[in-house]
Amino acid sequence: MDWKNLPTGGNIEDRRGGGGLPGGGLAVGGGIGGLILTLIAMFFGVDLGGLTGGNTAPTSTQSQTQGFPAPQTQVPQQQRDEAYDFVDRIVASTDQTWSRIFQQSGREYTRPTLVLFNQYVQSGCGQASAATGPFYCPLDSKMYLDTSFFATMDRRLGGGGDFAYSYVIAHEVGHHVQNELGIADQVERRQRAARSEAEANSYGVRLELQADCFAGVWGNSVKGAQLANLSREDIQAAINTAAAIGDDNLQRQSQGYVVPDSFTHGSSQQRVNWFLRGFESGNPNQCDTFSQEYNQL
Ligand SMILES: [Zn+2]
Repeated sequence: MDWKNLPTGGNIEDRRGGGGLPGGGLAVGGGIGGLILTLIAMFFGVDLGGLTGGNTAPTSTQSQTQGFPAPQTQVPQQQRDEAYDFVDRIVASTDQTWSRIFQQSGREYTRPTLVLFNQYVQSGCGQASAATGPFYCPLDSKMYLDTSFFATMDRRLGGGGDFAYSYVIAHEVGHHVQNELGIADQVERRQRAARSEAEANSYGVRLELQADCFAGVWGNSVKGAQLANLSREDIQAAINTAAAIGDDNLQRQSQGYVVPDSFTHGSSQQRVNWFLRGFESGNPNQCDTFSQEYNQL
């Protein structure tokens, strides 16, 4: 995939470095923040060592006043490493695609932000660790990605590669589009009103398959130049890889944190089919996973 020809200029917040822990605002070692850190350490077996240390008092004035690292819109050249450059171009490219599509129906697309982090991150939906996997938080309209996820895709499943990575991002952008269109809200309401867990889950599946279809719509807009030789097998490999890791992450999920993205929802076949629907048509109206009979998805 020839991603270096894609545009730059996505909203990227680079919170990598320094372990990704918020400097202030979180009372490390005490209160809720301390509890959360301890739980993360418990569940993920991470040694937080000097960070907790039972010290509830501010260790330095800096850590109390600094807050989260400011979003860096202008990143010095040396920080534009390959991972940054890649996500920047993929996000910018999805911005172009969805801005155009929204415009065509008289709407305005609010571009999402992608937060790059290491190890831990504070999102609008709660604390997350790298083990959570990529996710989208509708409350702050941000996507969260630890780039080690890409390395995991490569190492563990051999299913990495540029297209697989870009699929992961485009899928999260798909959730943002759902949020922009009010679909996510409607689904949440229906889920709350559901009479059974199975019914509630079925909405989750529809939401995931639609995000795949939306990822396909993005793929369509770059396919001429960038994805010309993409095969069904490539798509299958990318989706299977994301799903396999997602599965693993779900099993390690702890309670009370961000909900990891459920890449596992829907069968692999269904996911490929819905991606292809978006990919071949380039038309988000083809992505209505909600009005189909559930057993025909
Ligand atoms: Zn998803």
